[in-house]
Amino acid sequence: MNTIAIVGICIAAATIAVLAVLMIWCLFLKRDRGGEQEEENEDDIEQGRNREREERIGEGKGIRNRGLDCFMNAPLQCFVGMDDFCDRIKDEEGINVDNDEAESDDELNGKSGVLEKFKRFIEIYKKDDNCNMVDCEFLREAFEAEFPSSEQHDTRQFIMELFEAIQSEQNISNQPFISSGHKDHKDAWEEYTKNNTSIIDDFFIGMYETKFQCECKEIETVYEQFNHISLPITIKNSLETFNLWLKNCKKNTYSEFKCKKCNSFKKFEIVKQITKFPQYLILAFERLDTHKNVKLDGIINFPLNFTMPDPDNNENNKQTIEYDLNSIINHSGFIHQGHYTAKSLRNDQWLNFNDSLYEPLLGPPINDPKAYILFYKKKVSS
Ligand SMILES: [Zn+2]
Repeated sequence: MNTIAIVGICIAAATIAVLAVLMIWCLFLKRDRGGEQEEENEDDIEQGRNREREERIGEGKGIRNRGLDCFMNAPLQCFVGMDDFCDRIKDEEGINVDNDEAESDDELNGKSGVLEKFKRFIEIYKKDDNCNMVDCEFLREAFEAEFPSSEQHDTRQFIMELFEAIQSEQNISNQPFISSGHKDHKDAWEEYTKNNTSIIDDFFIGMYETKFQCECKEIETVYEQFNHISLPITIKNSLETFNLWLKNCKKNTYSEFKCKKCNSFKKFEIVKQITKFPQYLILAFERLDTHKNVKLDGIINFPLNFTMPDPDNNENNKQTIEYDLNSIINHSGFIHQGHYTAKSLRNDQWLNFNDSLYEPLLGPPINDPKAYILFYKKKVSS
């Protein structure tokens, strides 16, 4: 064999070897690619699962907390859960603000135009997107003066301020309504709604009727609006607070007053009851005693639903008004150092909201020991 032939065989062998190595490498490469694809598929499946999870609790989004914002975030979650209220607020306008100005972004970042900012918040929250959290700094800023972001605040005060801000933008008059000389409670409510046409009045305002009856049978009836009902609690009767309130909703007490007719001090019977039930009844447990500087812990029994005699149809037929629990605000911690969270019903699913985080709950918050504020929704009569 000559040298040329040996070199030729070596080159051929080397070529075969290189080709073989290339083929094997290609096979590995292919397998690797396949592996990657499998992983991608798994990612898709996982994303799909996430989407499913999002869809299942899709009615919820977290709200960013920039420090001490939970006093605001918790009630906002409760309002978002009120579908009828959110549907209506989209078309609401303020009559006491310049809406052309309020619509500009500059104005939205300023202090006025709470209604517009609240509407924008609801719009962002209800937007069907992949966001799991909304930022409502523009709404937070509107309350910076009353609720400085460097301090902790009472969520109940925030709810009342929010109501008053929107009412002042929408109502003709913002005088507290305490009025007498009406034919009946329907007449008093009609009088009230002449000046108070805001969305807050439509959804959250109720009315008390108080009858003062002298021994001489002279009666004076006074009507008074309310935006929430405060339930005082003590450690001893905390288990009975709600039931006591339900029992005392038509309450008789006695006191001495000067009678216009008798022109002297006489014993009066006072009967106080609710004659206008709002669409959403807000009940606040007086857990935060700022006078004694203590927080009253303890379980308070509250029902998932309850009925009240219907003041409009109570004489002839024993009709009732029914309320269902719609959301609650919890307070944990101490009086000046605590944290607010919310539990809100969304499409038959109870969700727990803790600022930017939220999770589904297995069931309704029955007698939640941290409950501070309850929102009940009036049931649509069938
Ligand atoms: Zn009298």
